[in-house]
Amino acid sequence: MAELNPFEIAQRQLDEAAALLGLDPATHALLREPMRQVIVSIPVRMDDGTVKVFQGYRVQYNDARGPCKGGLRWHPDETLDTVKALAAWMTWKTAVVDIPLGGGKGGVTCNPKELSPTEQERLARGYIRAIWKVLGEKTDVPAPDVYTNPQIMAWMMDEYSTIRGHMVPGIITGKPLSLGGSAGRNDATARGGIYTTREAGKVLGINLEGARAAIQGYGNAGQYAHELAEQLLGMKVVAVSDSKGGIYRESGLDFESTVRHKRETGSVVDMPDTTPISNEELLELDVVVLFPSALENVITEANADKIRAKIVAELANGPTTPEADKILHQNGVYVIPDFLCNAGGVTVSYFEQVQNAYNYYWPLHEVHERLDHKMTAAFHAVHEMAQAKKVHNRLAAYLVAVERVAEAAKLRGWV
Ligand code: GLU
Repeated sequence: MAELNPFEIAQRQLDEAAALLGLDPATHALLREPMRQVIVSIPVRMDDGTVKVFQGYRVQYNDARGPCKGGLRWHPDETLDTVKALAAWMTWKTAVVDIPLGGGKGGVTCNPKELSPTEQERLARGYIRAIWKVLGEKTDVPAPDVYTNPQIMAWMMDEYSTIRGHMVPGIITGKPLSLGGSAGRNDATARGGIYTTREAGKVLGINLEGARAAIQGYGNAGQYAHELAEQLLGMKVVAVSDSKGGIYRESGLDFESTVRHKRETGSVVDMPDTTPISNEELLELDVVVLFPSALENVITEANADKIRAKIVAELANGPTTPEADKILHQNGVYVIPDFLCNAGGVTVSYFEQVQNAYNYYWPLHEVHERLDHKMTAAFHAVHEMAQAKKVHNRLAAYLVAVERVAEAAKLRGWV
C-alpha cells in the first residue's frame, strides 16, 4: 500500500505542519527531501569462503542545526525509503529535544540473525570502508538502532580510526563503556520514554502506580521499558511481545524472569505461567499505557479504533499512520509521538559526543539528571503547543521541531 511507505508518511506529516506554520515554499521544499543520500554495495567474505554483496545506505537529511545524527539499522526489509523516513524523523527528533544536531540515518539490508559474529564484524567494517568519507565528528555521527549494538559500534569505530590513523571515539555513539561510551546510553531510549510517560500521567491526572502496561517489541527499547516502567513508575506490565509472538499474565510479568526467558530461548513466547497472545491482540489490550517498541505501521486505520490504552508511548519510530493518528485523537487517546518519546537515545548519544570531545566522563546520575531535564522540557513544549493550537500531539511536535529547523536554515541564508 503506497500510503504505508514510511517516507511518504513522513512527507505528509511535514506538509501538514508546513501548512499550519505558513512555511514559505522554498523552506518547505528543502525540508521535504534529504540533503544527501548515499547507497553503497558492500562485498563481505562469508565464513564458508563465498562472497555476498550487501546494500547499505546513509541518508543525511538535514544539518541546518548541526552535524547529522542517527542510527544504523540492519534489517531484511530495509530500503532507501525507510532510511529516508527515519532520517527525516531524526531531524525532527534532535530539534524537538533541542540538541545542536541535525538528522541522518543509515542501514544495511540484511538478516543479522543469519550472520555469524565474524560475518557481522566484516559487514560492519565493510560498511565503514564504503561510507567513511561522508562521516565525521563534525559532519555525520552514526549510532545503534534495530539489530545493531555496542559491539558493532566498536568495530565501526575501530575501522574508521584505522583509516584515519588515530582513535576517533566521537565518530560513532552507543559504544561500549570501555571505548568511550556514555554511562546510561544502554537504557536511554526507554528511560526518556518513561520520563515522558510520567509527565503525561501528570498532565492527564492519571495515577500510574500499579497501572497496567503492554509492550509490543522486546529489543533494547522494549526490554528497558519493562524494567523502568516497573522501577520508576511502579507499573504492572501485563503483556509483552517480540517478532515470534507475545505473552500475557493478568498478575503482571516481572522483568527479571521475562528477560531471562528471552535470553535463554531467543523469544518471550512460551514463558511458563503465561497465556499466548498475538502482537495484534496485545495492541488492543485494556491497559493504561501501550508502548509500541518495534517497527513502523503497527497502529493503522484498521485497528486504531480498537486501541483501549489511555496513553500510547511510542518507543518505536513510525508505529502509527496519519489516519490512525486522527482516530486516536478523536477517541481521546494521548499519544506521546515517536520522535519525542524515543528521543532519549539520541540525547544521551549527544552527551556521549560531548564527553568524547572533552575526554572526560560523567557519572550515571549526571546523565540521568540531564536526560530528565531535556525530556521533560521537550514534553511540555509539545504538550503546550498541542493545547494552544488544538492539534494532536504529533502535529504539535512537528510544529515545535520544524519551526526550529526552518529558523536555522533561514538564519544560515539557505532559504
Ligand atoms: N537510533 C536511535 C534513534 O532512532 C538513536 C540515534 C542516535 O543515538 O544517534 O533515535
